[in-house]
Amino acid sequence: MQLPVRIHDIGLYLRCPRLIFFENIRNINASRKMKARSLLLRSLMLSISQKDDLEGQLRESLSRLREELPLVYEIGQDELEAACLEMEGEIGAIARGLARHLDLLLPCQAEVDLFSDRLGLSGRLDRLAPGGMPSLIRTGKAPQDGIWKRDRLMLAGYALLLGEKHGTHINQGLVEYPRQGLVRAVEIHGVDRARVLRLRDRIKQIKEGQLPDRPEDAPCQECEAREICETRHSLASRFF
Ligand code: SF4
Repeated sequence: MQLPVRIHDIGLYLRCPRLIFFENIRNINASRKMKARSLLLRSLMLSISQKDDLEGQLRESLSRLREELPLVYEIGQDELEAACLEMEGEIGAIARGLARHLDLLLPCQAEVDLFSDRLGLSGRLDRLAPGGMPSLIRTGKAPQDGIWKRDRLMLAGYALLLGEKHGTHINQGLVEYPRQGLVRAVEIHGVDRARVLRLRDRIKQIKEGQLPDRPEDAPCQECEAREICETRHSLASRFF
């Protein structure tokens, strides 16, 4: 039996479809190792549990995470220390920005595992926000308006999984941008849900062994699969 397609794979496919192929044959680990700063920001966001004194809560979590993260993840102590120092200077601004959005985020369930045999999809959602809304934590920059396309489709994937689980349609989602103290609410459209199902089918074909063409705009410069990908390319071109 084929394993379900992970919502994470949809994000990977949108970065470059070939990454699915190489990750599947275990030639690379395309899930980029999270940098200490991103790991810290994400963990801080997941630690928020009440609406009062957000800055105090974040500062307390920061000192706990400083001790705990190296026990849980492979992470350099120096890199983590530098990230913690940087974060100490930013926590005030992050808390002031996020305080306006806490009603959207709390109460919540963090890191929710979802699975559907019927949909052939699975995933771990960052946060299940009030009203059953899926919420993603993004440690990079927010776009000028709205959210990035990759996040829109990943939200649609989680909305499908949540909708199936609760027998309802989930029409709204959130993306959290802690670096900018922002939370953006977006509508989830049927067209994106349908696109997720098409991407799921395409990903299945790749996992069954179909090497996709190299996209013209693929981000090859910083790609961890560049070496194996170029070899595959030249092997294939010998036959034509
Ligand atoms: S090297 Fe370029 S084409 Fe190959 S997997 Fe990476 S991004 Fe895709």
